[in-house]
Amino acid sequence: MKNEFDAQHLHISAFAKSQGTYAGEERLSRFTRLLEQSQGLGGETFASYCVQGEMRPDAAGGEEPWLHLSAQATVTLVCQRCLGPVDETIGFERDFRFVASEALAEVEDEESEEDVLVISKSFDLLELMEDELLMATPLVSMHEICPTPVKLQAADAGFVELEQEKPNPFAVLQQLKKKDPG
Ligand SMILES: [Zn+2]
Repeated sequence: MKNEFDAQHLHISAFAKSQGTYAGEERLSRFTRLLEQSQGLGGETFASYCVQGEMRPDAAGGEEPWLHLSAQATVTLVCQRCLGPVDETIGFERDFRFVASEALAEVEDEESEEDVLVISKSFDLLELMEDELLMATPLVSMHEICPTPVKLQAADAGFVELEQEKPNPFAVLQQLKKKDPG
């Protein structure tokens, strides 16, 4: 395998045969479909990923290439309660097996636990990563505790109660002044 790793043009069988392994980072801004989910926020942050290739025996006594891919990212979604931005950490870890044709991939994907894809000499790993990250993105997102304005209102209510219990120091001072004949 060559030293340079091109995530968008990965030679699957060469990578698998060399038992290639690569850990990298990509700016979220390059994942346009993922950024649509986050209203364009967080494009400057990074998704980190790790990919390993290997050849494993196939059913016919030969070998076929596999990739083990994992990735994590933090996406900014809209809180369904307060409509403010809420950061969600998403990620996945999956095995992919590569077969010779689209027809084979379709049939075997149905029957297999792992995902079955078509082998390529110029495979777009980043597109696969984006697909998987999109699937890992929650449909509904919410803060555990919304930062505003729900919390502030609750705090204000507590403050008012306290004021009623304790005598207002300024009111006490006013009363003292009135008593003072001067
Ligand atoms: Zn919220």
